[in-house]
Amino acid sequence: MTQETGGFAAFNLNPNILAAVIATGYEEPSAIQQQSIPIIMAGQDMIGQAQTGTGKTAAFALPILHCIDPAKREPQALILAPTRELALQVATAFETYAKQMPGVTVVAVYGGAPMGPQLKAIRNGAQIVVATPGRLCDHLRRDEKVLSTVNHLVLDEADEMLKLGFMDDLEVIFKALPPTRQTVLFSATLPQSIRAIAERHLRDPQHVKIQTKTQTVTAIEQAHLLVHADQKTSAVLSLLEVEDFDALIMFVRTKQATLDLASALEAKGYKAAALNGDIAQNQRERVIDSLKDGRLDIVVATDVAARGLDVPRITHVFNVDMPYDPESYVHRIGRTGRAGREGRALLLVTPRERRMLQVIERVTGQKVAEVRLPDAQAVLDARIKKLTNSLAPLVADAESTHGDLLDRLTADIGCTPRALAAALLRKATNGQALTLAAIEKERPLVPNSAPRGDRPERSGDRPDRGDRERRAPVPLAEGRARCRTALGARDGIAAKNLLGAILNEGGLAREAIGRIQVRDSFSLVELPEDGLEKLLAKLKDTRVAGKQLKLRRYRED
Ligand code: AMP
Repeated sequence: MTQETGGFAAFNLNPNILAAVIATGYEEPSAIQQQSIPIIMAGQDMIGQAQTGTGKTAAFALPILHCIDPAKREPQALILAPTRELALQVATAFETYAKQMPGVTVVAVYGGAPMGPQLKAIRNGAQIVVATPGRLCDHLRRDEKVLSTVNHLVLDEADEMLKLGFMDDLEVIFKALPPTRQTVLFSATLPQSIRAIAERHLRDPQHVKIQTKTQTVTAIEQAHLLVHADQKTSAVLSLLEVEDFDALIMFVRTKQATLDLASALEAKGYKAAALNGDIAQNQRERVIDSLKDGRLDIVVATDVAARGLDVPRITHVFNVDMPYDPESYVHRIGRTGRAGREGRALLLVTPRERRMLQVIERVTGQKVAEVRLPDAQAVLDARIKKLTNSLAPLVADAESTHGDLLDRLTADIGCTPRALAAALLRKATNGQALTLAAIEKERPLVPNSAPRGDRPERSGDRPDRGDRERRAPVPLAEGRARCRTALGARDGIAAKNLLGAILNEGGLAREAIGRIQVRDSFSLVELPEDGLEKLLAKLKDTRVAGKQLKLRRYRED
């Protein structure tokens, strides 16, 4: 066990849970975990004010797992979540932390899936039930005793549940639970409606809130990029192409992520290394020394491992994983902009983490501007600039040292100096894509592999509306509207065809067009809200791949 896992060890959790936490790669508890775990372990009721990204799931999952009895094959803990996605995410987290607890099973209960197998899993002795309120009520209507053995209840994202209209369902569920149960409520906000629930259904609850005080960050230019979790590595690689950095530190949450990202960077030729709590102190110092003297340019670190790191060369901080709280954000980005220099901080934000971004903006009192992934043209320009910068200093005296050789080689080969220079460039750039077409081929122009659950729905794949569950839409930037065409991959359409057609026929600048997502039977394009109707009218007769584009405004709901 490393010194850092001592943080989790101090809770005296069941050793099997602690072992699973260590295996997950967490180094120390987040602030909400630090405060909530002892309260929940002690069986007390609690109100936790925290949003996604603070580590709130583990804050209740670890102590709840600690409290259940694996030998009893009956539901002991119920977690209520507003959406199917969150329910699945929470169930997966429980499974991860219960990996080394034989006999503990978790069932996710949500709408849109058959009820039979869910009920069977409950009756077969799942101790942890993670459910959306609507579907759980359906089960209660069939078997009102299904929750009679539950002695721990967690309401996750309670404010979201109320927003989605689950109030009545919650009351039905409260009635079906033993009154002696422990109740824990997590909510990002505490409006009157939530306070009223707490008053009626919680007993003497402890309040836990992550204190945030205003912090100032100067001399650091901040930006954020909306990205899906599974696209982070490719987003980082794209950003590195265009960012003009000297040394860079990237923050991730787990040890494994430090290793994975560092090796992805190394594979692309960057001088990168991982820095995490498992790495021996003397080795860590070596990594930091290498970053100082330029043997390394990028360090991928966890918060713990980067403590005390002070390297004036650092021009950029990438928050690849969201920090748990604004203080930690301020602390992280303070690694750049040292000694009066300018620094730049980039934050990757997944759709579910946008709230945390707002909190950061509020606490720092600064807007963190949105940036987009560089397009192929920007990547090309950056690559050529780098090549120019690397060759320019060599030109001055090259003719005097290698001019004669050039004459001889052109004569021997029988080619022009231009042909020879081109051949040398090809060799020197080692197959790197240096034309627009080659770069477009190398990477999709826009990422279009949104993770499941965040994809716009296809018809026939709608969630159970009766359950009032919703799917988080792919984030839409301010001032943009999403438009849809029935042309998709099966019509032979690629993002660049749509882009080309809209650029040509619509007379727009490239920057005006946002994300393009090509699905099998349709595509979505983000266009400027301003003047949209006119633009759609202009594109009325546009054809792509021989078919009418028929672009229309697309509404999520
Ligand atoms: P949550 O706020 O529960 O949605 O958690 C956000 C993310 O943080 C999840 O990916 C967790 O796996 C991760 N996480 C939670 N606690 C820790 C921790 N102590 N150290 C590192 N990562 C964590």
